[in-house]
Amino acid sequence: MFGLLTLVGVLFVAAAPARADDTTSADDSAVATETLVIDLTEGTMMLVDPYGTDPNKEVGYRWDVCRAYRDGRIELIRFLAEQFPAIHDLQGYACREISSPGTPDCDGDWEPDYSTCWSTHAAGRAIDVVVGGGLNSPTPEGVALGDEIVTWLLAARNGHGNYWARKMGIQQILWNDRCWDGKRDDDRWVLSADAMRWCGIANHDNHVHLTLSNPGADGLTSWYLELGSGYGGG
Ligand SMILES: [Zn+2]
Repeated sequence: MFGLLTLVGVLFVAAAPARADDTTSADDSAVATETLVIDLTEGTMMLVDPYGTDPNKEVGYRWDVCRAYRDGRIELIRFLAEQFPAIHDLQGYACREISSPGTPDCDGDWEPDYSTCWSTHAAGRAIDVVVGGGLNSPTPEGVALGDEIVTWLLAARNGHGNYWARKMGIQQILWNDRCWDGKRDDDRWVLSADAMRWCGIANHDNHVHLTLSNPGADGLTSWYLELGSGYGGG
């Protein structure tokens, strides 16, 4: 399904200071560090997503931040629809703030002109994978599908934990009251949906939330390059 990677060496540069994500208040100003992985099976090298290089909320004017179409995000949506045909819907663009009780002005407003807490959905870095049922009323089939997708993303392959998530530039997963964050060392070897941390994230039981890093959203991590789509070819 995937061709051999022939291009390595793309440098990822942090575009802005890291900020809290959609659901927690953790602040992180970590600078990108590149991770090079030797893929023994395919006999080639892969550049995987470094994580932690970008904010989970962004600051600025609506017309600067809100971006519906980003190449990597669109490519990943197309792929997931094909790989998991039972998915009900794939969506997630919303030009809105995060909703963070206790933080002034971060009230989930849909169209402020300026905000200090844009959602990753506004920046075009988030995908909601709708697996069925309603919010807080999931179906057993939907939960099983969500578990299957998340476990596929996090499973080890060729000796590397979180194999597809890393290659696809997925930096955060919220699913069924559980969280996974690629920046956390203790999440690096969480290899299945069942093994994810309980974090009490409400309203994520009928859809899997995926946050992409900026390189992932722009199609610059190894998975997109291997598709031969030409993204990030320079
Ligand atoms: Zn979401």
